[in-house]
Amino acid sequence: MISELFDRNLRWAAGRTRMDPEYFRRLASQQGPEYLWIGCSDSRVPANEIVGLDPGELFVHRNVANLAPPQDANFLSVLQFAVEILKVRHIIVCGHYGCGGVRAALSGERHGLIDHWLQPVACLCRRDAAELDGILDFDARVNLVCERNVLDQVENIVGNPFVRDAWDRGQPLSVHGWIYSIQDGLLRDLETSVHGVEEPSIHRVRAQKPPPRRRRRGIAG
Ligand SMILES: [Zn+2]
Repeated sequence: MISELFDRNLRWAAGRTRMDPEYFRRLASQQGPEYLWIGCSDSRVPANEIVGLDPGELFVHRNVANLAPPQDANFLSVLQFAVEILKVRHIIVCGHYGCGGVRAALSGERHGLIDHWLQPVACLCRRDAAELDGILDFDARVNLVCERNVLDQVENIVGNPFVRDAWDRGQPLSVHGWIYSIQDGLLRDLETSVHGVEEPSIHRVRAQKPPPRRRRRGIAG
């Protein structure tokens, strides 16, 4: 029953006020979150809950497959407001394993409008096809693309003019790439954090990684 949601809301608001009578008055006066969260729309990845933060502590933007596309006016409006007005200290891109959006992009099947939205993920799959083709298990392939997709979105944000301008002004701002597992409720840091313009770009970090060692073909005997 949809009306049940209003009953739940009444109980929630009453509980909050019981614990802290000034809670809503204080919250209504202003928001001062330290974090911008960019996550997937998936209902199993509730931003505030999994990091244990209250309303007012996390500025949230969610879409299918946690994308940060450089041409998306919705995302860019959120980013500019978070960086220039709220002056968040941290931007967190949080993907999750088993993401349905990633799965759809990797499958190569047609799903309609969402295929256009997921085009950056499909491009990633083509870019890394040689490596992905070597992973036989489809779920394992999905999970690797989930991680790579987070890296790509961090890179989009690091290159974004609002973020570059903030760093040029000396504004403290870090960008992080994390991934969440629905299986155990735990977050994992993908260790791609960037804290300013002096940091090497993720592409450069990737390029410095030694290529996977090829097995040398020995001569029998
Ligand atoms: Zn997802």
